[in-house]
Amino acid sequence: MTFDPSERVADVPPSGIRRFFELAEEMDDVISLGVGEPDFSAPWAAREAAITSLELGRTSYTANRGKRELREAIAAEVRRWNLEYDPDDEILVTAGASEAIDLAFRALVDPGDTVAVAQPCYVSYTPGVTFAGGEVLDVPTRADEAFTLTRAALQSAGAEAADVLVYCYPNNPTGATMDREELAEVAAFCREHDIAVLADEIYADLTYDGEHVSIAELDGMRERTIVFNGFSKAYAMTGMRLGYALGPAEPIAAMNRVHQYTMLSAPTTAQHAAIEALKSCREAVTEMRSQYDRRRNFVLSRFAEMGVDCFEATGAFYVFPECPGGDAEAFAEDLLEAESVAMVPGGAFGAGGEGHLRASYATGLEELREAMDRLERFVS
Ligand code: PMP
Repeated sequence: MTFDPSERVADVPPSGIRRFFELAEEMDDVISLGVGEPDFSAPWAAREAAITSLELGRTSYTANRGKRELREAIAAEVRRWNLEYDPDDEILVTAGASEAIDLAFRALVDPGDTVAVAQPCYVSYTPGVTFAGGEVLDVPTRADEAFTLTRAALQSAGAEAADVLVYCYPNNPTGATMDREELAEVAAFCREHDIAVLADEIYADLTYDGEHVSIAELDGMRERTIVFNGFSKAYAMTGMRLGYALGPAEPIAAMNRVHQYTMLSAPTTAQHAAIEALKSCREAVTEMRSQYDRRRNFVLSRFAEMGVDCFEATGAFYVFPECPGGDAEAFAEDLLEAESVAMVPGGAFGAGGEGHLRASYATGLEELREAMDRLERFVS
């Protein structure tokens, strides 16, 4: 017996984001616009609820699906997006949205099933499909369509043949959002070709132009959609590892079957924090969002002044400018070396991302200002 990695694991390359950060970590005085996590701490009331739960000795497992009180609070929360889910059997609390995404692939994708992955996208979908034995179909989106997913993009990738479509809006890495009309076009395509949808809506609360719309709200979509969300982004709770999946009872039960054997239950302390977050921290979320929005406007205007092309990102906390000169890998490495500013080359996020850079503005305004000054010096 040897411990060679399984073929499925050996076939998956290491994350292109990680590789880049390892370079940055070796250097001093780096301003990183590379990380995909809030620079804020979780709202105090949520942290205090976690502390109190520990003081009271609440350190046991919870129900597999998560604490009933939390599932009820989530059901109430998602009504803001016109979503109705039954806390009993349509909501599953997970260790981050990451676990929910992995569960969906493992519970709902059979070996050989085709999963269309709208790209550029968060880095976990393609490996997750591969780990589950599915076949990935790349569906590139385009800068000149503001990185929205269109019927034309689905058709030209041959997505009619897909069993499942996974996408993320508001999008990581582009910051793109999709409005109701644009989503309706994707929904119609999925109904016509009987495709199930995995909608990663973890940035739903970080939408700067109008209200977030969930595809699950559209006609005939609830029964074929699983929605992922969580507390990492809007509530700045990345390290607490708490997310959730919403969907019809049957697929949620299948996901729970994997979850109950692999995770048992999501972190208990984090569940106490999340209950309080949903109860009393809406104002804190609104305040963080308005700070992100201010930074977004600042970064976009600085790019415009520098003559760097960047479509107007309207969600999450990323902008996705075109890379001056076109070779984003070389640009990012040279920028890091010359000016100690870290951005991630867009190709790390899959098809359609090449020739772009991802810059996160989940960084204080002062640091952003310094990073933009350095970038301007580098570009000129
Ligand atoms: N989906 C997207 C689009 C993300 O950007 C991230 C985090 N970077 C996740 C999911 C994972 O979030 P969590 O911390 O809830 O696992």
